[in-house]
Amino acid sequence: MREQETIYTIPVNDAFHAEGTLCPLCRLEATTDSNLIEYYLGPSLMEPDVRQTTNEKGFCRDHLTRMYNSQENRLGLGLMLHTHLLAQRERILALLSEAEGSSERKGGLFSRRSQERGAAEIAGDLAAISTSCVICERLAYTMGRYYDVVFWQYFHSSEFAELFDKGPPICLPHLAELVRTAENTLNRSDRKTFFSRLVERQGAKLEALAAEVEWFTLKFDYRNRDKPWGESKTALARAIRTLEGESGLT
Ligand SMILES: [Zn+2]
Ligand SMILES: [Zn+2]
Repeated sequence: MREQETIYTIPVNDAFHAEGTLCPLCRLEATTDSNLIEYYLGPSLMEPDVRQTTNEKGFCRDHLTRMYNSQENRLGLGLMLHTHLLAQRERILALLSEAEGSSERKGGLFSRRSQERGAAEIAGDLAAISTSCVICERLAYTMGRYYDVVFWQYFHSSEFAELFDKGPPICLPHLAELVRTAENTLNRSDRKTFFSRLVERQGAKLEALAAEVEWFTLKFDYRNRDKPWGESKTALARAIRTLEGESGLT
């Protein structure tokens, strides 16, 4: 692990040491996400280089909604949206003018030249303005560093490997990310070890979860009315989180 990556180990270890049933990578992502929202609604938004980035990239629907709903620093959010809107107005109008030009060509005397773009490409650029997000970008970068730390520790610290293997189930979206990242990070032999432990760990946990969901449904049978719920009361929420990742279920 490179020296600068050691700063990423504390949040990873905190997430894997935390009590509870939540996927540790969901926990890590949620904490990172909240910190980023706090950062962009905090004093950073008065810094010219931060504003240059937010003017250019903006935020996605999910992050803007959460920034607004947090009720924090509405003035700051307003200042940021104002200059972002002005910057994007230019781009939006340029793209619309391009669309106007392309519609004039349609069916006309001259066929489209190679450097001229069609409506689908212009629409793609318009949609990208909406989805482009400074927080999503930084979140993806930071999560990438966290995956490096997870893999490094898994093969250099038996304590961490045990913590990982015994922890709550990894949700499906993070499982996919782990498999993807392992391909680029681990050598063939470590990959084999890691995947075989994942098979064991996820297999046992998914079986237990399915049994708890089943018991939840069986509790609706009057014959089971007086039997204990066990862990089943929270089984539906845990099943949804395991399938989809943390999504703000209450
Ligand atoms: Zn997760
Ligand atoms: Zn976003």
